[in-house]
Amino acid sequence: MQKKYVELIKRATDVKQNSYSPYSKIKIGSALLTNEGNIYVGTNVENASYGLSICAERSAISNAISAGEKSFKAIAIASDFDKFITPCGACRQVLIEFNPEMDIIVSNGKECKIFKANELLKDYFVLK
Ligand code: ZN
Repeated sequence: MQKKYVELIKRATDVKQNSYSPYSKIKIGSALLTNEGNIYVGTNVENASYGLSICAERSAISNAISAGEKSFKAIAIASDFDKFITPCGACRQVLIEFNPEMDIIVSNGKECKIFKANELLKDYFVLK
């Protein structure tokens, strides 16, 4: 695995400690890599009105977009689970908007797997 992806997993693992997840108790962290090599992190933010919760992946995308970035190469996702956590359907659609070939790296703390965004969401919705 390339060195930048190792750093990405570490950043995702570190930021999950900031998770606001009093309802699910599930801490998720993500780290998004831009084509220029910048990294933006995000974590899940839950709410008593569950539908208002935001996932770590969309949190990272929001951080990057807010900073003026729009070209993404990869995202790493880390959790405390032994099994691999892949993005939910909403996050897959949001990620694929920016790069259908984006690498999605999932880590369980011991190992990782890499998927392409369009591998996880086939026949996705697109307007452009
Ligand atoms: Zn999600």
